[in-house]
Amino acid sequence: MNYKAPRGTHDIFGANALAMSLLEQQARVIFKKHGFEEIRTPAFEDAALFMRSIGQTTDIVEKEMYIFEDRKSRKLALRPEGTASLVRAFIENRLDISMPAGRFFYIGEMFRYERPQTGRYRQFHQVGAEFLGNPSPAADAEIIILAQDLLFSVGIKEMDVRVNSLGCEKCRYLFREALVKYFCSVRDLCEDCIRRLEKNPLRVLDCKTDSHKFTGVPRISDYLCDYCKDSFNLVLSLLESAGCNYTADEKLVRGLDYYTRTVFEIRSDAVGSQDALVAGGRYDNLVGELGGQNTPAVGFALGSERVLLAARNTGFFDSFQESEKIFIAIADQELFNEAFSFAVKMIRNGSKSGKDISVFGPVNGKSLTSQLKFADKIKAVKTIVFAKTEFENGKFLVKNMKDKTQVEVLIDEL
Ligand code: AMP
Repeated sequence: MNYKAPRGTHDIFGANALAMSLLEQQARVIFKKHGFEEIRTPAFEDAALFMRSIGQTTDIVEKEMYIFEDRKSRKLALRPEGTASLVRAFIENRLDISMPAGRFFYIGEMFRYERPQTGRYRQFHQVGAEFLGNPSPAADAEIIILAQDLLFSVGIKEMDVRVNSLGCEKCRYLFREALVKYFCSVRDLCEDCIRRLEKNPLRVLDCKTDSHKFTGVPRISDYLCDYCKDSFNLVLSLLESAGCNYTADEKLVRGLDYYTRTVFEIRSDAVGSQDALVAGGRYDNLVGELGGQNTPAVGFALGSERVLLAARNTGFFDSFQESEKIFIAIADQELFNEAFSFAVKMIRNGSKSGKDISVFGPVNGKSLTSQLKFADKIKAVKTIVFAKTEFENGKFLVKNMKDKTQVEVLIDEL
């Protein structure tokens, strides 16, 4: 029986694994600069947490969650996103008291039963940030700038930052009514639109098939209350003064129900149809709705796989060299113990020059020829050969694997 990774999942190895871990390393550096601290939450939660927070009528909850019962019939779900879990952890652990700065980040796998294609998987990775406790539009602007900084940090320079405001409940109620009225007057809506119109009219704006029919569609900006309008303008002016190029996009609605006021997306041309690298926004009611004290909040999630696709042509990851590989070989089997303890010393102490090295070997019971072949296979740059005569004179042979030249080196020198 040949087993295969489940559809929509993939093994990450070699250069891709290196790139993924470099992205995460860069993210940690940027998060530190912005004062964000890490939080790790479980990969599965009570399914009701996601239903309640993301929204019953969203695609994620309707079609995409991996839900299962455990052996005690608890209904659990693999996390489809990170915000709900973070808010649950914030409330449960009273992080408002122990981590009063309210700046959190997470890195981890997410799971959604979606139709797989390039940039869209059933298990994927997100790097996310959440800023809790700050109602100021400055927090929204900082979150957008932080997301942009993460992309800059892996060499992505070309990006399209889209920002919108969905208003508060009051503005949204009026806007929703106007939308329903408008869409009811549009002929031949597709099936998806008809379904969304009943359940979540804002999502009709997302439709790729019908969008050309929506001339004269109501604009959210006409329904924003004065407070929401002022906050949005402040977010935009802060972005401008920080040198962030953005487009105010009234069509941006986002597929999760918990957003209030600012929503944003960062897109890239370099990744095909799944072009959203980062998505986020403000969610001032979620902490209260999940049973905590009312706490304003704003955050985003970045899709690691898509960011790596967008970064692949920037050359950023090529500039990181793998460490130099050193192979320890033995020409005489009786030197195995000496070679082994030398390898351990070298692993612990590193190279004299301070260069990054990885040390392999020795292998016993193999001819020197086959050891050297293996050293070639793993692309060792140098092989240190323990040979009896030289060893007795306090020397090794050091073989340059590229040009196959070798020199004798004093053991003490190495
Ligand atoms: P969301 O949690 O839906 O707001 O998505 C945030 C980001 O996660 C998106 O902009 C994508 O970069 C990434 N993302 C979402 N769904 C997937 C998926 N199925 N496969 C890969 N990346 C995804």
